[in-house]
This record gives sequence, structure tokens and C-alpha cells, in this order.
Amino acid sequence: MRRPFVAGNWKMNLTLSQGQALAQAIAAECREGESVDVAVCPAAPYLLPIREAIAGSGVQLGAQNAYFAAPGAFTGEIALDMLLDVGCQWVILGHSERRQYFGDTDALINKKLLAARAKGLGVIFCVGELLAERQENRTEAVLETQMSGGLANVDAGLMDGVVIAYEPVWAIGTGVTASPDQAEAAHLYLRNWLRSQYNDTVADNMRIQYGGSVKPDNAAELLSQPNVDGALVGGASLKADQFLPIIRAARGIVK
Ligand code: PEP
Repeated sequence: MRRPFVAGNWKMNLTLSQGQALAQAIAAECREGESVDVAVCPAAPYLLPIREAIAGSGVQLGAQNAYFAAPGAFTGEIALDMLLDVGCQWVILGHSERRQYFGDTDALINKKLLAARAKGLGVIFCVGELLAERQENRTEAVLETQMSGGLANVDAGLMDGVVIAYEPVWAIGTGVTASPDQAEAAHLYLRNWLRSQYNDTVADNMRIQYGGSVKPDNAAELLSQPNVDGALVGGASLKADQFLPIIRAARGIVK
């Protein structure tokens, strides 16, 4: 049985007071014992105050990136220990913006992912193809490369703290959403990949989020696909009146 998981990736957005107000509005609706896992992923300087804003609620805290090394001389980076220290349960790794602008390769993502899981931190591991890759019918080949690279040497025992986010790059921040059929096909491919590379337990338990222009008006249809287990939400996670309806759409969906 897979619990739906809706996470908001705030990216490099919001002021502190805007983030606190948003977090409080989400926390007010998401109590402990909720049927859906909900997380917010603010920019690093806001992790601690946002943790305070969601304290006592069912909302979890995630970071948007981390470095794999132990604390030390890595100017500008954030250690996994620091994320744990401020109460993060999750870290997003492999987001397409990290891959595109900051040189996060499959090999680097793999180092980060291994280090995060070794520390017990949950990982939202993002994969997804570019528009040109989809147009050239290379979606599955790209997903294969990203999955096998990012998950190299990650054994089955560490996979229970991993969530996969399928995020077609052409759908991120564009307002163009993958159709429910396109999302379902990619999610099924990813689940079958997990079945062939790991086992039935890993494949059947893995939560695979869809990300890419999820909005209140398309969330229910996407989330009701058999292999879509939640959403990673960018733009629509910045406003309570858009994020809360997406959480509501995920409630009651059990797969
Ligand atoms: C994202 O950046 O992870 C994302 C899915 O963004 P958006 O919802 O804005 O497309």
C-alpha cells in the first residue's frame, strides 16, 4: 500500500514572512495522522523558521539540495548533517534545474543520494526527459540512464527512504502538463525498472510522484492514475489556495 505524497518545492522563492504564512496555512489543514504525506521544501535559509511554523502539524520538512561530504571546507555547500540538525526529513536530489544550471550529473547525484540514505534522510530523487528527448522517442532510455546512474550501489535496504519524482523537463514551470496517459506510461516504466533491478517489494512500495505544472484543476486526474502516487509541485506550491486543493485531491487515494 502506498501513501500519497505531495511535496512543495518552493525553489528560490518567497520572503521569510511569506514562507511562514504559507507554511502556517498548510499546517492548519494538515494534521498528524493525515492520509497523505505532505512536505514543504523551502530555500535553505528558511528551513529552521519554517520548521517552527509547521511544528505539531503533519507537514514534513525537505531541503532542495545537499552536498555529500562530511562537514568541512566546502564554501557555500550544505551538509546532510546540517539538514538533519534543523529537522529535515527529506532532501530533493537530481532536480532538473540542478542538472541544467549547477552541473549535477548522475554520478554526483548518486554520491549525494548514497550519503543521504546512509544518514537516514529521505530522498526525493527526480528524473525526467527533455522535450527533444521525448520527441526523439528517447524518454525510456533517458529514464534508464538517470535511474541506473543515480541509484548505482543503492541496495534494496536503502530504497525504503527513496521517493522517485518523474518530472518531464518540458512540463516544469511551463504550464504544459504531461497527459495522464503520458505520466502513467512513464511511471509504469519506472516501476517496472525497479522490479527488474530490485524486487517486487521495492517496486510495489515505491512512491512515484509526478511533477510538472501540477495545478488544482489537473491534480485529481493525474493522481488517480494507477502508478502516480503523489506530486512534486513547484509554482502551485507557493500559494495556499493552489497547494491545498492538490493535497485534498490526493486524500483518499490508496494504491
Ligand atoms: C518542479 O520544479 O519540481 C515543478 C514541478 O515545478 P512546476 O510545478 O512549477 O512545474
